[in-house]
Amino acid sequence: AQIENTDVAIIGAGPAGAAAAAWLARKGLRVHVIERTQFPRFSIGESLLPQCMVHLENCGLLEAATAGGFQVKNGAAFTWRGSDTAIDFRDKFSPGPGTTWQVERADFDQRLIEGAVAAGASVEFDTRVEDFHADPVAPRLTLVDAQGHSRQLQARFVLDASGYGRVLSRLAGLSKASTLESRCALFTHIEDRIDCSDYDREKILIGLHPQHAGVWYWLIPFSNGRASVGVVASQEALQAAGADDESRLWHFIGQEPRLAALLARATPVRDTGRLEGYSADVTSLHGPGFALLGNAGEFLDPVFSSGVTIALDSALRAAPLVERQLHGDSVDWQTEFEQPLRRGVATFREFVEAWYDGRLPRIIFSANQPPRIRQLISSVLAGYAWDLANPLVAASKRRLDALAASVTESSVPAAQQPDT
Ligand code: FAD
Repeated sequence: AQIENTDVAIIGAGPAGAAAAAWLARKGLRVHVIERTQFPRFSIGESLLPQCMVHLENCGLLEAATAGGFQVKNGAAFTWRGSDTAIDFRDKFSPGPGTTWQVERADFDQRLIEGAVAAGASVEFDTRVEDFHADPVAPRLTLVDAQGHSRQLQARFVLDASGYGRVLSRLAGLSKASTLESRCALFTHIEDRIDCSDYDREKILIGLHPQHAGVWYWLIPFSNGRASVGVVASQEALQAAGADDESRLWHFIGQEPRLAALLARATPVRDTGRLEGYSADVTSLHGPGFALLGNAGEFLDPVFSSGVTIALDSALRAAPLVERQLHGDSVDWQTEFEQPLRRGVATFREFVEAWYDGRLPRIIFSANQPPRIRQLISSVLAGYAWDLANPLVAASKRRLDALAASVTESSVPAAQQPDT
């Protein structure tokens, strides 16, 4: 059979794939996106960070996304042992937007990929990438459609944006275990029916379990009266909490007083979903004729909603390099792509570690924190994790250690009696 060809083949039509496709198509390159599912499709990852808005603008997709009328988000609220605090992204150290959205990904992702098509990319749904032949100038993919028909697509460069599919990580033998502990998430969408004057729909609400360290919740309201709710814990803790995932999720929600009160009248509108062992890494984010974007490369942890931000950041770093390379320039993918991308990911990793070992909850909940410290934290949580002018980016571990050490016990919410 004849081998089809294109300039850039992109595996996956999620945010990373759509952003890279839009940017490259606007430069006049032939871009073909291959997507395993039929859109719209459900995806987890619904709370964005303000840094995303810069990337959406840079690939020309901001208008398409804005048309979705999504719930505005201006920060993150936290609840722990009856204490409430919040970080406002508009009050931050780094320059850049201070608001973003909370989105149902089925709709958001569809709008982005339609925007990429409007920019000139082609997309093929219901088709999966099954095999890969690496080559510095003519990498080749084997595509299989819903009827089981197989064909070859030759590109001049391949971007893997396959998310949890991790296509090239598997096929090119790049998989590497994450240094982060394996955890499990249970989640659903609800008709939330929240009727509470001090509840702020413009913030994600993160709850910490009153007794079990490392167990936490998200509540992400959408603009249509629905919300996403989920719990993250060890697999063992979740298994012990009920007979099925729905009862396990609601058992945990019942243990956090603020969430339990807010969601007293909520009703689920989809089955409880489960994702586990999602943290993953690769030995390299690039190879001859290809690069890995977003979750197809490294994924850390959901706690700071950094996934889509990193996905878009990687796409907007890779796309201009692909264009240069296809115009005959030599590109050093290690120093121009992997190292700078990993710099911001490393900031998030330090924050994730500090979240689970208790340093960050202590810092966030400590009373009487200087506004300047709050602004530095706000910047990272707003996604400006690459801004080296921020001391919490330039020396994350040392600064977080020092901040946590300076918090006095009396300014942190105390544990209550464990429930029986
Ligand atoms: P995806 O959005 O996963 O897109 C990849 C696409 O590739 C999919 O459409 C898939 O069908 C397709 N694909 C896969 N295999 C193939 C194949 N073989 N051939 C063709 N196509 C293929 N991030 C946030 O920003 N905010 C959050 O609040 C948040 N919450 C999260 C909660 C949990 C519990 C978890 C686990 C993650 C969360 N994330 C969050 C992370 C977020 O889900 C991802 O980081 C984000 O979706 C990554 O985007 P992507 O474009 O890399 O991949």
